[in-house]
Amino acid sequence: MTRRVKVGGIYIGGGEGVKIQSMCTVKTSRVDEVCAQISALEGAGCEIIRVSVLDEEDAAAIKAIKERIRMPLVADIHFSAKLAVAAIEAGCDKVRINPGNIGGEQNVKLVADCIRAHGISVRVGSNTGSIEKQFLQKYGVSEYSLVESALHGVGMLEKYGVHDIVISVKASSVPLTFAAYKLLSSRTDYPLHIGVTEAGTYEGALVKSSAALGALLLEGIGDTMRVSITGDPVREVYAAKQILRAVGLDRNFADVISCPTCGRCQWHSAALAEKVSDRVKDCKKPLKIAVMGCVVNGPGEAAEADIGIAGAKDRCVIFKKGVVCRTVDARDAEREFLKEIDGLIND
Ligand code: SF4
Repeated sequence: MTRRVKVGGIYIGGGEGVKIQSMCTVKTSRVDEVCAQISALEGAGCEIIRVSVLDEEDAAAIKAIKERIRMPLVADIHFSAKLAVAAIEAGCDKVRINPGNIGGEQNVKLVADCIRAHGISVRVGSNTGSIEKQFLQKYGVSEYSLVESALHGVGMLEKYGVHDIVISVKASSVPLTFAAYKLLSSRTDYPLHIGVTEAGTYEGALVKSSAALGALLLEGIGDTMRVSITGDPVREVYAAKQILRAVGLDRNFADVISCPTCGRCQWHSAALAEKVSDRVKDCKKPLKIAVMGCVVNGPGEAAEADIGIAGAKDRCVIFKKGVVCRTVDARDAEREFLKEIDGLIND
């Protein structure tokens, strides 16, 4: 098991559950917009938020943002020890830095001293674009260079007494991401932040992240995660939740089972399945809901569902645990089924 690292009011690692992270897409100094985005992310289920710190305005904005949000705030800084110190002094709960790119030993010590003085944690990570030269020369772009580079950064901080560290080793390739985290988890007990970097636009990013993070999580690797998707970060949070559910690490949700439909389907089951999924997307109650295209196989195939619906041409049957309990006109199916679902959720 990994060790536990405190980030604001929560813990990463040590069997505390996999924490979902995302990152703001607006400039940090635009405090109102940042806070609005964090609020939307929190509503979706985000547990840790990261913001970029590009200049002194961004660093100073952290204080104002912290006053208006509840979740832990991570400041992401590259190339500047001065900005890292400013972000820490402004009240961030964790910093994301690469000790190798903040200007040498003296600056590493400066930032490490500040991290310890404020009792915060730090994420050190390598990705395929930031592997230290010496490891790149030795191993090329590989899991070995990713891991050695990240652990080298960890060692630079440990030297100055920093031990509340989370590590990441990201690539945009699924096999490389998987291999790197497997290797890293065999080399350290620090908690790991898992993710596929620059995973792409929605559909491709979903598939890549599901493949890599799903495989890692099934092996028990990963203490916090981000699904990187180009665009609205709220989608990252819903995607992360879906991955945790798919691998059995979150059971408190409404699982919508729907058949792909085939030539037997003579009603709007696919459209209803979409509506039901949207209706229950924030439900935290463990429920199984089935939307099946036909009565021939529907109730039998979804026998374990708490509630389900299957249709013929004009009529739909609503069933519970595979047993038919009501028949409704297909035109009323959506209204009646959503009413039943609301009843179960609010029961
Ligand atoms: S439940 Fe019916 S409509 Fe859906 S895939 Fe199976 S046979 Fe086809």
